[in-house]
Amino acid sequence: MHVLVTGGAGYIGSHAVLLLLEAGHQVSVYDNLSNSSPESLRRVCAMAGASPELFIGDLLDSDRLKEVMLNVKPDAVIHFGGLKAVGESVEKPLAYYRNNVVGTVNLIEAMECADVRRLVFSSSATVYAESKKLPLMEDAPRDASNPYGRTKLHIEQMLEDLAVSSGEWSIGILRYFNPVGAHPSGNIGEDPQGIPNNLMPFISQVAVGRRNEVKIFGKDYPTYDGTGVRDYIHVVDLAQGHLDAIDFLTHHKGQFVWNLGTGSGTSVLDVIGAFSRACGRQLPYKIVERRAGDIAEYYGDPTAARLELGWKAERGIEEMACDMWKWQSQNPAGYGEFEIGDYTNEDLNAYIKGIKDTLSSTNVVS
Ligand code: NAD
Ligand code: UDP
Repeated sequence: MHVLVTGGAGYIGSHAVLLLLEAGHQVSVYDNLSNSSPESLRRVCAMAGASPELFIGDLLDSDRLKEVMLNVKPDAVIHFGGLKAVGESVEKPLAYYRNNVVGTVNLIEAMECADVRRLVFSSSATVYAESKKLPLMEDAPRDASNPYGRTKLHIEQMLEDLAVSSGEWSIGILRYFNPVGAHPSGNIGEDPQGIPNNLMPFISQVAVGRRNEVKIFGKDYPTYDGTGVRDYIHVVDLAQGHLDAIDFLTHHKGQFVWNLGTGSGTSVLDVIGAFSRACGRQLPYKIVERRAGDIAEYYGDPTAARLELGWKAERGIEEMACDMWKWQSQNPAGYGEFEIGDYTNEDLNAYIKGIKDTLSSTNVVS
């Protein structure tokens, strides 16, 4: 199968591209590299022994998107491309609505143009309304509490409308819980810009000496040890869910929603404990005030994905911490600085395929 992956150079996308190539699929990536580096795809290519074709392009550039879609004519699209920082979305809501919602409208129009009707979309557990009824099931009430979450909710609703409007579509909405970890090789992983907002990337920067201590946001929650509880999911398990969703959609028309999580919650203290064991030293932490807007606890019920997709999270919190530590310790500065500058699409593809060793001394990447 030929799969077009938007945002395929990013954290989750690069893991999915690797699994797709390893499974023998042909892969094209559409990415503007606004939050990623071609280095991720170069490493994917080296590991898979097969290369994705990279199309540098913006989801907001509808002409480019249509041109690529018509040129590639994929059998299916996996749509990771988007902005994802909750705090930034509060400061720049319109940028988020434009990029995520308008970008998705453009994508769907380009797919219609090329008669491509199979789509897997990266949604998030953030679309669920706060609930005391756990684990969260796919039919739980939805309500997002920030602009980022609302872009995901609007896109979900748009995809539902699309499936109602025409019986030709096969659409899978995947609601991720908390993706963490890295490929077990340590070659690819999450590379956040600036100070990480999320717990695991912050802990791993403490472990590698880039930050002094972990700040635990509150120890007075009604949870098993007083710290916040989340459903952490290994990025390789998560990526596998996309392959399983595509297989399912090959045989089913309509619109479907699946939670991708482990089905159980882990506290902040237990995540720090797992990471301390992974890196071989007790990581320093301090209890501070609760973070505004945080809820005490949530985790999802992944039964629908197990029954319909045959998917199940295989890796636990110890493996998530070990793999994340491997990635962070082998790549303390992530992929390094990259600016797209004047590079042509051909330059970048030659780099990814190993035909060109470096891009330039200033731009990439050890
Ligand atoms: P990421 O930032 O690492 O990857 C997103 C990719 O999309 C990047 O490569 C970026 O360059 C690209 N991109 C962004 N805007 C684009 C545009 N206008 N045109 C073309 N490319 C564009 O993020 P990720 O963690 O891999 O997340 C992937 C998807 O999963 C996102 O849609 C995100 O909202 C969703 N998601 C992520 C998490 C998480 O915690 N990481 C949780 C739930 C949902
Ligand atoms: N958290 C924390 N310190 C940090 C970052 C997060 O204590 O530096 C807590 C946060 O309060 C929540 C959990 O860790 O209980 C997961 O937070 P994250 O931001 O990773 O995910 P989200 O809250 O978006 O689910």
